[in-house]
Amino acid sequence: MNLSRATWTDADEIETNLALLPVGSTEQHGPHAPLGTDWLNAEAVADATAEAYDGDVVVAPPVPVGVSEEHRQFTGTLWVTEETFRRYVRETVASLAEHGWNRVVIVNGHGGNVAALREVAGKITRHDEAYAVPFTWFEAVGDHRSDMGHAGPLETAFLRHTRGELVHEDRIELAREGASDGWGEWVSYTNLAYDSAEFTENGVVGDPTEGSEERGEELLELAVQSLVKLLSAVASRNVRRPKHR
Ligand SMILES: [Zn+2]
Repeated sequence: MNLSRATWTDADEIETNLALLPVGSTEQHGPHAPLGTDWLNAEAVADATAEAYDGDVVVAPPVPVGVSEEHRQFTGTLWVTEETFRRYVRETVASLAEHGWNRVVIVNGHGGNVAALREVAGKITRHDEAYAVPFTWFEAVGDHRSDMGHAGPLETAFLRHTRGELVHEDRIELAREGASDGWGEWVSYTNLAYDSAEFTENGVVGDPTEGSEERGEELLELAVQSLVKLLSAVASRNVRRPKHR
């Protein structure tokens, strides 16, 4: 059940302790893909998973602004600090738990959120009345994972499949021409760059022409498979904290 579209009386009838909380960002995704790519994709994975899962799951509304300062030179990018983001996620999970939805998978669509989510989910689990674990969809798609980039093959493919009307097909070639091959500027295993504008002309990393609609369909399937499996594990997990020893 998607909470944004349900009534409170419908939500009240749901018998589950499972919730999915999509989180993403609002940030540049090249000249061809929308600023909302990361939260749109996270929500698409969450909705499709709730449908595929054998049992009820609540899908919370997406958190649309995340840890994205690395894209600040590109118009339209919005960001908050990790501290603000963690706090927002923590309090949102606490309110889900208040209704009995106290086993929460945070479905993430943005790489810059990963560290903050791992930390806050641990804090929630250790100190609050809920169990939380983060899931980043593009890390859960098998061998495709190495092609991630930014607004590159994977995200372009995913959007073509789920929200094709938002992809500017006539700008894909332009997107490819201004893209960089990899994320960052690496020397001795250290990334010297902090902002994406240091290494990509138009914001794209990777080749978006390699992101066909068929590939997007496969990506969604793989992400949903992974998340369904994770939800089952979260549903049956003993979430009491181990005793001090
Ligand atoms: Zn993205």
